[in-house]
Amino acid sequence: MARTVDHISARGGGGELRTLRIVAEHADIWHGFGDAETIAHKHDVLDRWCERVGRDPSEIVRSAGVAPTPASGATLTSLCPVPPEDQTETLLLTLTGADRPGVTRTLFDTLATVHPVVLDVEQTVTRGHLTLSALLEVTGRETEVSALVQRAAYGLGMTATVTRGRGDNEPRRRGRVAITLLGHPLTGRHLSAVSGVIAGHGANIDRIRRLSRYPVTTIEFDVSGADLDVLRRDLALVAAAEGVDIASSPAGLARRGRRLVVMDVDSTLIQDEVIELLAAHAGREAEVAAVTEQAMRGELDFAASLHARVAALEGLDESVLGRVRDAVQLTPGARTLVRTLKRLGFTVAVVSGGFIEVVQPLADELGIDHARANTLEIVDGKLTGRVLGEVVDRAGKAAALREFAADEGLPLARTVAIGDGANDLDMIEAAGLGIAFNAKPVVRALADTAVNVPYLDAVLYLLGITREEVEEADLLDEGTTVPPRV
Ligand SMILES: [Mg+2]
Repeated sequence: MARTVDHISARGGGGELRTLRIVAEHADIWHGFGDAETIAHKHDVLDRWCERVGRDPSEIVRSAGVAPTPASGATLTSLCPVPPEDQTETLLLTLTGADRPGVTRTLFDTLATVHPVVLDVEQTVTRGHLTLSALLEVTGRETEVSALVQRAAYGLGMTATVTRGRGDNEPRRRGRVAITLLGHPLTGRHLSAVSGVIAGHGANIDRIRRLSRYPVTTIEFDVSGADLDVLRRDLALVAAAEGVDIASSPAGLARRGRRLVVMDVDSTLIQDEVIELLAAHAGREAEVAAVTEQAMRGELDFAASLHARVAALEGLDESVLGRVRDAVQLTPGARTLVRTLKRLGFTVAVVSGGFIEVVQPLADELGIDHARANTLEIVDGKLTGRVLGEVVDRAGKAAALREFAADEGLPLARTVAIGDGANDLDMIEAAGLGIAFNAKPVVRALADTAVNVPYLDAVLYLLGITREEVEEADLLDEGTTVPPRV
């Protein structure tokens, strides 16, 4: 291990007797210049000095400026252990401490005299604590830059580090995945479990950021070098074992751009099952609820169960439909979800095994673009106990998703399906991203991801949208002064 010294004055001449000995004793980096034969000789001398002072020669990163001599055939590449594109000396600066206005400006103002080339800058602020890192090219002025950075940090009451090295950031590996972790509360154990799975796959976490603190804490990991399908399977096991929601989806361009979001209605967009509200008016609520429960668990053919339940509504006055429309309760976050998706230019659709008489007015009120549901037969102002046309069942919901996507000119990869019941499974499987929302176990097992917090706007976080962005958009909207909470 070389003895650390604060400063070595610029020194040249007397190479093998003076400079190279100091390099062997103290330096991490050596750069030589000369013709190929001279450089080769200097490498050899440096190796021998390393041996005499007890230093591992490979600890010293070497580069050389070679004046080519046609006779030798030596090139820079043949003499230098690092590829030419990585030869540039770069400085990595970090500045940490209490955030205040003007930190970044003070740093770069101080460095203005050395004209740094900026390769990268990243900054985060967590509870008022700023961490800024910058990668600079300041050829030949490293010592001066180091002093300037320390001076700027001292003036700001912050801590700075300056690390010498070579080249730019490593290029990110292929296989980029966005992993979203939602918890209420989110604990260190959850972070440990998720990051452990990522590390276990040999993937790398490139960035971590918080997407929301309300109504749930959401953390997004930007990961590279991952096999999405394998990672997703193992993360699903963590989600089940730890009781948190974890979503993983392809990152990069795949996460941007317009999408079609198709939602189930009963127990997804709204908290109720409409047919049970209707049955209550007929005094047959318990009987109908039992059949609904069986159908949603996948134990009954949906179409047969629908016919059986609608038959129980025979004779109801059609005015009941209006009363049920008024009684339905939106799921918390439903308005925020639809409003934000619409602002993003997304298309929003609802598909329901319930009834268009209730679903369409709800869709109109929320500004939803497409609605598909069953139609109740009404004769002389009374429900006949039958439905008209083809039943919207499990296959019908998936067909509607495909039809809406085709209408919008979007491939299925750009669709999102959200549902809770067995009759949502086909559309959840067909969609680019299938989300089981507070769903039955059979649905959770087959969806890409599950959301088990009772807030529909949590879906926004799975799409990489932050709570802050949602609330800022609400504030900018004319007439809105307080961010709506549902
Ligand atoms: Mg449902």
